Amino acid sequence: MPRTILTLHAHPDDESSKGAATIARYSDRGFRTVLVTATGGEAGDILNPAADTPEVRADLAAVRRAELREAASIIGYDDVVMLGYRDSGMPGTAENAHPDAFVNAPLDEVLERLVAIVRSERPEVIIGYDDHEWYPHPDHLRVHDLSEELFIAAADPDRFQGSGSAWMAQRLYAPAFSLRRIRALSAAMADRGLESPFGRWIERIDPAADDPPLTSVEIGAYVERGRDALRAHRTQIDPAGPWFQIPSDVIREVYPYEDFELMAERDGAPETGSELVA
Ligand SMILES: [Zn+2]
Repeated sequence: MPRTILTLHAHPDDESSKGAATIARYSDRGFRTVLVTATGGEAGDILNPAADTPEVRADLAAVRRAELREAASIIGYDDVVMLGYRDSGMPGTAENAHPDAFVNAPLDEVLERLVAIVRSERPEVIIGYDDHEWYPHPDHLRVHDLSEELFIAAADPDRFQGSGSAWMAQRLYAPAFSLRRIRALSAAMADRGLESPFGRWIERIDPAADDPPLTSVEIGAYVERGRDALRAHRTQIDPAGPWFQIPSDVIREVYPYEDFELMAERDGAPETGSELVA
């Protein structure tokens, strides 16, 4: 069996904005990498003025599928599974009530499909979401609800018996938007007389607040590949926007890491240091 990492994301572009460089790194090290994307992102706005054309608007779902394929291939994913649910839209919008919306699919139905994927791929690491209080998109909260359930249910031989034999990953992580990264990069931008894209965030953060324990994966050599993947999402990412405000060489010099929070682990899983898996 290949060593495998499986990531679970809500929309096309989430795989590129959260932990893409890390997956690229493990892919280069010979890991099999599998992306599961819950929705087609069809309720998203077009956030890049240059991509806002009638042709794109005519079938945004198809455009976003193509963007996802391109981004996943840049990152090095071996397989992309689209679960096919409809984007549930931002909180409080009419999209929330659409019968095909991801949030309206019965949790057990989604869980069974995910359990079948995990039992067939047998990943050592699963990456899902934490509770994302800073970005309460209903689909992201749903991925959060599913992440720990999936880790546990896939390993329980009494659950979903027709969906393969039980498998427990070593660890379940969530990509973390760490305070130490924001602080380090903001300070580095200020030192260079540049404007930080985190300006307003920094003001709202309690100076005494600290991160939970995190696993920081060194991704200096993969910064640009992660950014190329993000740029492949042309309808969502404005190349002149805040995502790219911090020069890549500043990231490499000041904070060449992606941070992950451990959400669950198998009893006796070996220590990993700064890796996701030993
Ligand atoms: Zn998303």
